[in-house]
Amino acid sequence: MRITRTIGETRAALAEAEDIGLVPTMGAYHAGHLALFRAARAESETVVASLFVNPAQFGDTADLARYPRDETADAAIAEAEGVDLLFAPAVEELYPPGYETWVDVEQTSRGLEGDARPGHFRAVATICLKLFNIVRPRRVYYGQKDAQQVEVVRRMIRDLDLEIDLRVVPTVREPDGLALSSRNALLSPEERRAALALPRALATRDPAKARAMLDGLDVDYVEVAPFDPPVLAGAVRVGSVRLIDNVPLDQGGRR
Ligand code: AMP
Repeated sequence: MRITRTIGETRAALAEAEDIGLVPTMGAYHAGHLALFRAARAESETVVASLFVNPAQFGDTADLARYPRDETADAAIAEAEGVDLLFAPAVEELYPPGYETWVDVEQTSRGLEGDARPGHFRAVATICLKLFNIVRPRRVYYGQKDAQQVEVVRRMIRDLDLEIDLRVVPTVREPDGLALSSRNALLSPEERRAALALPRALATRDPAKARAMLDGLDVDYVEVAPFDPPVLAGAVRVGSVRLIDNVPLDQGGRR
């Protein structure tokens, strides 16, 4: 597996590649990321992963500062999963001095995470478009876990006429139901137990029941979102960690 740091190196390394699958990530790999790598590997000639903790999408500098980072471990995992190229640029490579251009997916970025994290989806859409332009993928892979992110990227692909297929990979969960997340590593054992209330509440697929089950926790929202497919989505704070999750509501709710 090749690791590249600059846009120029990445473009040169991929100049001959015609069938690229891109998995955008922020690192701290867990089984959710592996599912994306495997989906990409199964159908793409060249698999590219990007590893970039995008500072622009963090409203909270403390959240950014403590975001788990371990590039050496991530590179070993990516290589073992058959990733051909890992693009791991420095912040200045993607946001050079004077940077001022942003992609705003206006409506889809509102509500839910968009309301809780102002500017988050503008930063997500922008970094994704930059990565698409650098890597030129035929397919991109995102996790259902971040359902609103999927909607924002889908809308951007349509609105900007990008020739890219969006693939959505089902949420990977711990045996007890907690959705895998890089932020789970920040939970104490007691918080980890409390966090289980979120997937259990969402599993009811009923907003009123879910809210009742989360009574006493610090709930940001529990709402049905009109995505494709519609989801029951929720966000809670457990200690200093904010967790999100959702369950699709179509196909009898068993997707
Ligand atoms: P992140 O590194 O957290 O930005 O996540 C990179 C990609 O992995 C995103 O498309 C996420 O939606 C996806 N992802 C994160 N957690 C999971 C999970 N538990 N199951 C499936 N995909 C996930």
